[in-house]
Amino acid sequence: MTRPAALAAVRRRLASATLALALSPGIGVAQDATAHFVEANLLATLYHELGHALIDIEGVPIYGQEEDAADVLSILLIDAFYEEEDAVALAYDTAFGFLGEAERSRAEGLAPAYWDVHGPDEQRYYNLVCLFYGADPEERDDVAADLGLPEERADYCPDEFDQANAAWGAILDEISAQAPGDTFRLGDLDPEFPAAADLIRDEVGLLNEDFALSADLTIQMLPCGEPNAFYDPDTTAITMCSEYVDYLAELAP
Ligand SMILES: [Zn+2]
Repeated sequence: MTRPAALAAVRRRLASATLALALSPGIGVAQDATAHFVEANLLATLYHELGHALIDIEGVPIYGQEEDAADVLSILLIDAFYEEEDAVALAYDTAFGFLGEAERSRAEGLAPAYWDVHGPDEQRYYNLVCLFYGADPEERDDVAADLGLPEERADYCPDEFDQANAAWGAILDEISAQAPGDTFRLGDLDPEFPAAADLIRDEVGLLNEDFALSADLTIQMLPCGEPNAFYDPDTTAITMCSEYVDYLAELAP
């Protein structure tokens, strides 16, 4: 199974600590790790929401839970877009994001919400680790061990990655073939979070280099009254809530 050809050209780089410093107004110079965690989880969440947007705009068929499919796209893009060192850093921080959510729920005495459209956080954690490892098992053996992926699951992860790549590959090839384009539209960006706004602005530019969609997709960062991120099919817009930036800074390990 080969990867979508157009995504083989890796050119994204994680923003350096200098940009990450001001991601959340509350983050100071001594907290680079927190800033990187915030940046990584903003990107992973944006790619997850892009999964919902592609499913809607491009009519991607989904076998299974849509939330799982969106998680899978996020991991595929992290693997495809970034140099190894940055991809690994993103995978760790995103994995720790799921663990952080799980710990927070436990601390609040909440049982795993099996009724939720999202899988339990720990399961999302292992799915992420598995697919990321499966994308390059030789290179990422130590990552899998470090993040506690059991052998019983690890054995299947290269096949799981190939399946995921095959599922999303056709549409990624299609929208890559039309690129560059200008279908990713920058919406309003909350001026209270200038570095996060820069991150999103840059990402919109990069996505236009990689993909051209069948319809315009707006990406915006606005206060929503809750830490969240969502795709709205009525407006074909992804909203990254600015509250989510502070939420992630608090969630950082
Ligand atoms: Zn979702």
